[in-house]
Amino acid sequence: MIAKHIQTALIGAFCCLIAACSTPRQYEAELPEELLQKEQTEQFKQALQYQLKQRIRLVEIAHPLLIHNVERCGKRTRYSAGVFLHKISEYPKPQLKAVKQLYGSEDQLKVLHVLDTGASSEKLFAGDQILLINKHPVPDTSEAAIDLLKNEMQSGQTLKLQVMRNKQKLEIAIQPDHLCDYPIQLSQSDAVNGYADGSQIIITSGLMRFANKDNQLALIIAHELAHNTLHHIPQRLSNTAWGGLIDIILNTSGIPSPFVAAGLGANLYSQSYETEADLEGLELMYNAGFELEGLELFWRDMAMIHPAIITHNQSTSHPTTVERAIRIRKEIAELTKDSRSIDTTSPPPYEK
Ligand SMILES: [Zn+2]
Repeated sequence: MIAKHIQTALIGAFCCLIAACSTPRQYEAELPEELLQKEQTEQFKQALQYQLKQRIRLVEIAHPLLIHNVERCGKRTRYSAGVFLHKISEYPKPQLKAVKQLYGSEDQLKVLHVLDTGASSEKLFAGDQILLINKHPVPDTSEAAIDLLKNEMQSGQTLKLQVMRNKQKLEIAIQPDHLCDYPIQLSQSDAVNGYADGSQIIITSGLMRFANKDNQLALIIAHELAHNTLHHIPQRLSNTAWGGLIDIILNTSGIPSPFVAAGLGANLYSQSYETEADLEGLELMYNAGFELEGLELFWRDMAMIHPAIITHNQSTSHPTTVERAIRIRKEIAELTKDSRSIDTTSPPPYEK
């Protein structure tokens, strides 16, 4: 009896499947062009705003590190007015409608964003149109305008700008920030990673999402900055003949990276560089006034997504997450001279 019921049910299900196959869902073959255009514009607007927000977060976290450690960067320094500039016509064509809805359609060189931590923070505003830079008329392209700005700031002299704000001409004087000349680049990659190549710092959007606290993101930027200021990269490259730039996480997926092929001797070198960059990075953060307490927990978070690096293996080029967490905790206690309140002999409590 039960078997008969099951048989009936199966036949029923089979019939349903057949029926579903024989009468496909009907939908419009072509969507209305106007609707497509509208949705495309909305999606471009959201994407532009998201990308700008990411860039702002990255640069605003990096900026204090680059300013407050300028004496550690030797000759690699520059001056910055701390603004993002843009010009409507320089965006890719498909994005233009969205760009105009966000920023208006006037095609002049304008301030897109003023860094909270930058020299211009209280003097320029988003939307200001730049007319003159030290009495020079602004060039046609934003690239040429940025070159002119760099040129006019190269000795750190006060920058005199004429801007148009709410239909009024204003004269503004800005004392540029002196900072390390290691530009921060955002790489659109889901990998949780950061790199230093001796002349710049590259952070992936995957790392930005993973490091949801600003001081965690600063921890990695400072680590990469330390690789550059300590000149690890040229030494490392000459030690290993390694052509890649991967850092933080290596080879946890089982895919050999070029770095692994360089051999264990090179790995030992790189482990000491990694520890040095971790410790130096904390000092750079301390100089820039970042909150250090609890930063070692970043490595516990990293261990959750990459358990292979909790312990050593032959191909490890970086210290384990265990060593990194413990060394960082000790260094924080040392830097903040608060070793009585931080017990470095036992693991930290896990963050709730
Ligand atoms: Zn590193």
